[in-house]
Amino acid sequence: MSQSALLVSGGRATISTDPPSVGLKALTCLADTRRMEQSVSPELTLTCPRCRTRFPSALKMDQETFARSNIGPMVELCPCCRWASRYEARDYYFHMPS
Ligand SMILES: [Zn+2]
Repeated sequence: MSQSALLVSGGRATISTDPPSVGLKALTCLADTRRMEQSVSPELTLTCPRCRTRFPSALKMDQETFARSNIGPMVELCPCCRWASRYEARDYYFHMPS
């Protein structure tokens, strides 16, 4: 019967007055945008020996990774004429995507 009285005196209610972390969110968004802008880097590119179309390689790697890895020979398909051709490491080059 004195249970409710005990609850009131013992249980100290803590009302959170912290404002929502809007400022922190905005900062995170800004950082994300910056990272996206920086990710525009040259693409690993090939030139089709048949139709001379330049197309991005199926291998997605940056210049640093490419320099360290020993790729090829690789068979890749030209998106223009559907010609599958074998490409050596020397056929690959980096081109800025337009
Ligand atoms: Zn082609």
